[in-house]
Amino acid sequence: MAQRRDIDRHLHELLQVDRFKDYGPNGLQVEGKDEIVKIVSGVTASRALIDAAIAEGADALLVHHGLFWRGHDGRLTGWLKARVERLMAHGINLFAYHLPLDAHPEWGNNAQLGRQLGLQGEARFGDQDLGWLGAAPVATLDALAECAHQALGRAPLVLPGDGRPLQRVAWCTGGAQGFFEAAIAAGADAFITGEVSEPQAHLARETGVAFLACGHHATERYGAPALGAHLAAQFGLTHRFIDIDNPA
Ligand SMILES: [Zn+2]
Repeated sequence: MAQRRDIDRHLHELLQVDRFKDYGPNGLQVEGKDEIVKIVSGVTASRALIDAAIAEGADALLVHHGLFWRGHDGRLTGWLKARVERLMAHGINLFAYHLPLDAHPEWGNNAQLGRQLGLQGEARFGDQDLGWLGAAPVATLDALAECAHQALGRAPLVLPGDGRPLQRVAWCTGGAQGFFEAAIAAGADAFITGEVSEPQAHLARETGVAFLACGHHATERYGAPALGAHLAAQFGLTHRFIDIDNPA
């Protein structure tokens, strides 16, 4: 068993929350019970995940995508009311870490996605050093796409570059398609992220650097469970990762 405030403090320091400029508050977003025995981790604090955490008897939910984002007007109505109401009715603490969880060198999404794909982060690039760069685990784009397909259970959308042999691969989980130019500037032969937008197709054609969109959810499925397992070991808690499938 652990006190909520001890977990809150531990995560704040471990993830270096103060280092990041983010789109929402990192840390405790909804306050529940003071004492925590059982933690559920997941990617997004969706209603389905909250309901699963309730069924599991969780005292805390640990996610990458929390409830409150820049641009939201603060009203607890509709779908947001339904999520918050469920958490509060069951005394479930909601801990959410966005960019700090992407970035953590061991428990973070980029570190953990790298492990899935056989990539080692040798350098960082891009805004707030969120992008990772390392030696290519395979020499061809086809082999890299197949590796991602096998590891993540879904075929990536591939924008081929100029067919060059792969030496350096850059990656950044989730909606990091805007990092493509920085990845190219950092010397990548291919860039892996979750999502794709229209401009990346032209950049891939015009620079020769390949782009793989492997799914926002699929690429961000690994940090929360790694961090949850760490917390469980650190504080003697029960932990379960619950994956709510999301094709996007
Ligand atoms: Zn994300």
